[in-house]
Amino acid sequence: MATMITNDCINCGACEPECPNNAISQGDPIFVIDPMLCTECVGFHDYEACAAVCPVDCCVTDPNNIETEEALIERARALHPDTRFDDTFESRFRKGQGKSAAGGAKNDLPARAASTAGNTGTEVTSATMPASTAAVSAYAEPEVIFVPLPDIDSWDIPVRCFKCNQPHVEPVRNFMIGNVIFCPHCNKSMVVRDNLNFHVRTLLKDSYDKWQNEKNEFQTKRERELTEFVESRVKEAEAFEAHQQRELQKIRQQLDAMGETYDAPGKPIKKGSRFGWG
Ligand code: SF4
Ligand code: SF4
Repeated sequence: MATMITNDCINCGACEPECPNNAISQGDPIFVIDPMLCTECVGFHDYEACAAVCPVDCCVTDPNNIETEEALIERARALHPDTRFDDTFESRFRKGQGKSAAGGAKNDLPARAASTAGNTGTEVTSATMPASTAAVSAYAEPEVIFVPLPDIDSWDIPVRCFKCNQPHVEPVRNFMIGNVIFCPHCNKSMVVRDNLNFHVRTLLKDSYDKWQNEKNEFQTKRERELTEFVESRVKEAEAFEAHQQRELQKIRQQLDAMGETYDAPGKPIKKGSRFGWG
């Protein structure tokens, strides 16, 4: 077993139809992977399809059962005797070198996301998209307008004169230890002591540090969430593309099989048959 499902599984069922080997089934209490059927998608994708769609990232490599690429492609050949796996078969061991390079997923995410956002290809265009889809494609991350902080030395601080009890304001730069402040109403002087200066400066410095930390955390969180969102959309798109490729292959195989077995009118019947020729 190379890929396994951990107890974090939420039983969403998204992985089951993606497995090219039908290795995934509903177990009790969570979905399980049959180790004898799992090839880590070797032969089909250069990424693990179940892991690509799992919303909680609980399809992981089983650390207790590491298998080689050779063993896995041999299993794929045994499971799919009618499929030809030539030397360029897809494999997560050769990520990005496969036919579709879809598994370059993680590394290629930004590029793929960008190309997806700007997709004007022939198959799907904004003209053929439903209006709601086109609107979503035009979505642009809103700009955050950060409120600017004034220069730390530009604050004015209200003071009440202890003699005349009248208020007035003093620039913060006047709150230096030993500085003399005069009341503009009664002209009483006041000497700035250590503790007053300490409180004013500490309050401003703590507030400014908190302000900057919150801003950094906010920006980091938004960038992380946006990256995760884009990654999950890319994974979904890749998984769906892989699904469509498999469906296309199925249609081709069914048509081939029909063509092989169809008895066309006038087709000669084999020699020795009851109503045969010659
Ligand atoms: S890694 Fe691939 S083959 Fe293995 S269970 Fe997941 S989807 Fe199936
Ligand atoms: S996609 Fe993940 S969470 Fe959903 S059933 Fe499969 S393993 Fe469980």
